[in-house]
Amino acid sequence: MTLAHDDIAALDKHCVWHPFTQMQDWTAADPVIIERAQGVRLVDIRGDEYYDGVSSLWLNIHGHRVPEIDAAIRDQLDRVAHSTLLGLANIPSARLAAKLAELTPAGLNHVFYSDSGSESVEIALKMAYQYWRLLGQERSRFIKMTNAYHGDTIGAVSAGGIDLFHSTYRDLLFPTFEVPYPYPYRFDGSVDDCVAHCLAALDDILTDHADDVAGLIVEPLVQGAAGMIMMPEGFLKALEQRCHDSGVLLITDEVATGFGRTGRMFACDHEDVCPDIMTLAKGLTGGYLPLAATVTSEAIFEAFLGEYNEQKTFFHGHSYTGNQLCCAAALASLELFETSNLLARVNENHAIIRQALAEIAECEHVGEVRNRGFMTGIELVHDRSTREPYAWQEQIGVKVCDRSRELGMIVRPLGHVVIFMPPLASTAAELQEMLSILHRSISEATE
Ligand SMILES: *Cc1c(COP(=O)(O)O)cnc(C)c1O
Repeated sequence: MTLAHDDIAALDKHCVWHPFTQMQDWTAADPVIIERAQGVRLVDIRGDEYYDGVSSLWLNIHGHRVPEIDAAIRDQLDRVAHSTLLGLANIPSARLAAKLAELTPAGLNHVFYSDSGSESVEIALKMAYQYWRLLGQERSRFIKMTNAYHGDTIGAVSAGGIDLFHSTYRDLLFPTFEVPYPYPYRFDGSVDDCVAHCLAALDDILTDHADDVAGLIVEPLVQGAAGMIMMPEGFLKALEQRCHDSGVLLITDEVATGFGRTGRMFACDHEDVCPDIMTLAKGLTGGYLPLAATVTSEAIFEAFLGEYNEQKTFFHGHSYTGNQLCCAAALASLELFETSNLLARVNENHAIIRQALAEIAECEHVGEVRNRGFMTGIELVHDRSTREPYAWQEQIGVKVCDRSRELGMIVRPLGHVVIFMPPLASTAAELQEMLSILHRSISEATE
């Protein structure tokens, strides 16, 4: 049975409530309805093709309909789709946990599964809090970074620092200490001054409150949802050092940066950082199925061990925790990293991205181009010389992305920052074409 575009659009508009979407605008517009995909292209119900320029919201790694991942899911489907991890083990979740323990920094060996990045963060927060209680210490506060994004559940929003989300749900959130994340483009002073300013704020909090703080949570190297804001070199290491010195747990949220996005398997690898807890999601299954993991150190895992009646159990779990289909997809994706030598190709193709971005940086309304590996944010400004931003009501980011869609590529803005996050497996030719669409969209929409 084939359904026409208009039929599905009507069903969608009547019944689907879209995420982060003003539904009044949505219902007034004509949606793109994706029907299938191939490689790095999405195909809509009318047969029009679009490059997947944001990896289906930062998830996709090897492209769509990858034979190896498709086969792994089908093979698992022939055995069992799901059985619970409460009281039972299963084959793919055990194999995947071992693989994650091997890939993550050396101190991280224990994997707690969930279904989304937000949940992996909730788990990290509850684990850190309970860890200290089990050691006999009441530490109920977390340190978070300004403009941080850790997901949309209540705990994750509490640990986040994006004002709009925070003020909307203010009374539901728990209190935190906040430290500025270095954003040199918007700092009045040198990069060194910016870093010193952020670290001094952290030092002040640690001096006065370290004993109340369970952990510091941070997006390592790149703050994604804030608009691809990038840490100067050495900043992550400095955070690790301070957490270590003050006895505060370091929680790195690698939900966006993990699995090759920054050119290494994990952002922490760039500075040889080993957190106490690492959260993973988005790219874990290659962008196929919802799966997340919270990976922890030996010390944290061991603190939860005890006699049954001591009640040291970690009281957390979801219906689909450790789902076999998801774990099978993740195993196949991680195997593809090796067999296709993906990280080497990412670093080779990075030269193409860098060169095209250097040209885009010359556009009249491009304030700053920020790039790390296959993560790019292009900050548009009303006036380059004064860095004066566009008024948010102008929706300049949306205009660029609308133009890009007309030219055959799906991208999403974050305010006035245009995000470009192609699948890691994009070929040189595909990248070139995507970047040329990006360039054209920016120049034409800001004319
Ligand atoms: C996307 C994201 C999350 C939330 O993940 P979901 O799967 O959308 O819940 C958390 N942290 C970071 C850094 C993210 O980019």
